[in-house]
Amino acid sequence: MHPLILNLAPTGMVPTRTDSPHVPLTPDDIARDVAECVARGASIAHLHARDEEGRPTWRPDVYREIVGKVRRASPDVIVCVSTSGRTFGAFEQRGAVLDLADDLKPEMASLTLGSMNFPRQASVNEPAMIAKLAARMAERGIVPELEVFDLGMIDYAKYLIERGVLKPPFYVNLLLGSLGTLSATALNLALLVQALPSGVTWAAAGIGRFQFPMNMLGIVTGGHVRVGLEDCLYLDEERTHPASNPALVERLVTLARAAGRRPATPDEARRIIGLPVRVPVAAG
Ligand code: MG
Repeated sequence: MHPLILNLAPTGMVPTRTDSPHVPLTPDDIARDVAECVARGASIAHLHARDEEGRPTWRPDVYREIVGKVRRASPDVIVCVSTSGRTFGAFEQRGAVLDLADDLKPEMASLTLGSMNFPRQASVNEPAMIAKLAARMAERGIVPELEVFDLGMIDYAKYLIERGVLKPPFYVNLLLGSLGTLSATALNLALLVQALPSGVTWAAAGIGRFQFPMNMLGIVTGGHVRVGLEDCLYLDEERTHPASNPALVERLVTLARAAGRRPATPDEARRIIGLPVRVPVAAG
């Protein structure tokens, strides 16, 4: 079995300090959590920015500080940023983080392949927005983390590939169990995996209590995983044990090793996905 890529999603758009004592919200907190998780086997950091009040923000100055601190603490980790449109809709906002320059340029950025509902909110990703974000990523040499919440989003990915809007390499996160989109069952995960174009690196993710079972399926079926407090705040279904990012990563790595898979280093993850070798840009 090949090494396991652990994509850490430490923060997300939703959790607040009230929801979790462990969710990292400031640049320092995020950089520390990422470093602790990289030490335990994470190789990608999927980053969301929060403002001084802890609310989601697209502001490049906040992303600049987060990415800078993450890179200083974890020079090898693959930095992936969010272009989520959940709370801000304009391309100028969603795409601003793609313009970070020099050593702060992200290697990957999220790209959700359709519109859908979350439990209390819509996530709107109209065709023109998807195409513009994809084009900007291609111009900047940033590889999309393709986010799939439903079977039809894979059909749409194939349409975009045929038309050259999406170009290899392809890395796809399959996110199951969000209320409003595909439910988290083994059969549904298998359907998604079977529908993927060949040559795609895929990771299994689950929302809330479905994170752990979807991650386990990803491990034993030869896929990869996305894990972290963005998707799940508890270690147990009864929601009695608040999770932390390092605890979530550590549990998966233990399981993966038992299943004969060790965590991929960031450079191994780059090779598996097909990302260019990262050459740090000297400061100043
Ligand atoms: Mg995200």
